[in-house]
Amino acid sequence: MTRNYTRSVELFEKAKKVIPGGVNSPVRAFKSVDSTPLFIERGEGPFVYDADGNEYVDYVCSWGPLILGHRHPRVVEALKRCLDETGTSFGAPTEFENVLAGMIVDAVPSVEMVRLVNSGTEAVMSALRLARGYTNRNKIVKFEGCYHGHADYLLIKAGSGALTLGVPTSPGVTAGTAADTINAEYNDLTYLDELFRKQGEDIAAVIVEPVAGNMGVVPPAAGFLEGLRRLTREYGSLLIFDEVMTGFRVAYGGAQQLYGVTPDLTCLGKVIGGGLPVGAYGGSVKIMEQVSPAGPVYQAGTLSGNPLAVTAGIATLKMLNQPGVYESLEEKSAKLAGRLTDAAGETGVEVSFNRVSSMLCVFFTGAKVKNYVNACLSNTQRYTAFFKSMLEQGIYLAPSQFEAAFISLAHSDKELEKTAEAARSAFRAAMAV
Ligand code: PMP
Repeated sequence: MTRNYTRSVELFEKAKKVIPGGVNSPVRAFKSVDSTPLFIERGEGPFVYDADGNEYVDYVCSWGPLILGHRHPRVVEALKRCLDETGTSFGAPTEFENVLAGMIVDAVPSVEMVRLVNSGTEAVMSALRLARGYTNRNKIVKFEGCYHGHADYLLIKAGSGALTLGVPTSPGVTAGTAADTINAEYNDLTYLDELFRKQGEDIAAVIVEPVAGNMGVVPPAAGFLEGLRRLTREYGSLLIFDEVMTGFRVAYGGAQQLYGVTPDLTCLGKVIGGGLPVGAYGGSVKIMEQVSPAGPVYQAGTLSGNPLAVTAGIATLKMLNQPGVYESLEEKSAKLAGRLTDAAGETGVEVSFNRVSSMLCVFFTGAKVKNYVNACLSNTQRYTAFFKSMLEQGIYLAPSQFEAAFISLAHSDKELEKTAEAARSAFRAAMAV
């Protein structure tokens, strides 16, 4: 079967005339898998349908938010009611915000107070400003391969040699900005021990994805998160968990609940907006009361906490806060991972799987992937062949090796079986590269 993508191709050509690169976020352009993007017409449960009428089992799930699948009836119903009875935005407080904030406070161990924003990027920017304001220090530590949104001081890669200053990864980011960002290797505490011994007094915060999901999926090594907690506490720096991806995804209380390590500040996004634009950052009352207007650290937003987005978030969290939900996600994800491992085994292609709950990734390398350097060993040409074959068979994976596949509650056995079946020939196609 060869699928027809004519309409998507046409739409992409038109898009490129009015939108840079034809897309509103770079990875959507399918550049790293050497293809043109699908234009999506609609979604339903575990499926998306493109502009040419092709159906796909969707493992992108809007890059994580759609943990209930597309157009979940409860979310749709809540949104309709909000439109019919409330409105879209007032720029004034509404009771909805109290409800969502209360649900986050009840769920996430580190959060006693939370501020709602509009995206993950905004949540992280605001949390870092707060950390700098609170500690009166400038430097931040991030990890190579972790993504925290596109704020200037986070678009930084490691400089050459240990303990050197970061360098910008994008034009438009100044060397001055880069100078306050220190890059460290994920899962490596030895380097951090040394770093803190030398510069600990200047470090405002360490920010980390407690399960990395932006270099493929990389779980924290045993003791890594605990080590970060110990070091930051010892030197008076704040520990920030960027749970934009993992929050309400790997457990209702996020990775901090799963691993039992409590940070000072937590950034959230994706799932808490149920598919609409919401982000949030929170922590102890003592720290959060430094945020304006309670305190001096300024942060604001015209559309922050708007009823429509918050309503979708509330409906989603209500569904997630039911007995058995995360067990069911785990069961589905374990089943899929098992079947994919079998399929890869049959072909003999060298792969390494990483999975935490419903975040899954296959690297085309025999080596265990524990950090960004290991992730880069993956044969991305093989990933491209795998991706293309899966797409052709109606399975929509992330158009990049360095992303997670997300399993939703809408994925049934039937879709998981179809995926595993498709993977057999896709692994063969990868092998042939
Ligand atoms: N942090 C993490 C861990 C993310 O995965 C992302 C987005 N993928 C962001 C921050 C940025 O969020 P947004 O795209 O909503 O700005």
